[in-house]
Amino acid sequence: MKTISLLVVHCSATPAARDIGVAEIRAMHRAKGWRDVGYHYVIRRDGTVEKGRPDTVMGAHVQGHNANSLGICLVGGVKPDMTAETNFTPDQYAALEQLLGTLTTRHPRARVCGHRDLSPDRNGNGKVEPGEWVKACPTFDVAAWWAKREGAR
Ligand SMILES: [Zn+2]
Repeated sequence: MKTISLLVVHCSATPAARDIGVAEIRAMHRAKGWRDVGYHYVIRRDGTVEKGRPDTVMGAHVQGHNANSLGICLVGGVKPDMTAETNFTPDQYAALEQLLGTLTTRHPRARVCGHRDLSPDRNGNGKVEPGEWVKACPTFDVAAWWAKREGAR
C-alpha cells in the first residue's frame, strides 16, 4: 500500500436538489475520458457513503497530489446558478466525520484538507490564500472543521 499523506475533501459542484451518487459521478468522469470515477469515496445528500476507486488505486481528483492522497467527494456545493454555496446536509457532515475518523486511524500521518487548500501558493508566502484558490472546492475550511470535530471526539 502506498503512503497516504493527504485526505482531500471535495464537492461535486452540483446543486443541492441533485441527489446524485457515485454512479452519476463515474459517468461524468468517464465522459471526460477517465477510466473510472476520480474519487475514492462519495457522500450522498442523505449521508450514504459510496465507494469509488479502491483505496489502493491512485485517484484523479487533485492536480499534483493524486499519488499520495485519497479523495472524498461531498455531493452538493453550488447554488442553482452554479456559484459556490456551502449547502451540505447534517447527515453528510456526520458521515464525513465518521469516514475521516476511520481513514485517519488507518493513515495516522495523513493531513485532512480541502481541495482548495492544495492550490499553488503563488506569492510564496507559505499560505494558500483565498485569492489563490483554483476553485472554491469544497466551499468550507475543512482543516478547521476537522480540528474541531477531532477535538470533540
Ligand atoms: Zn475538488
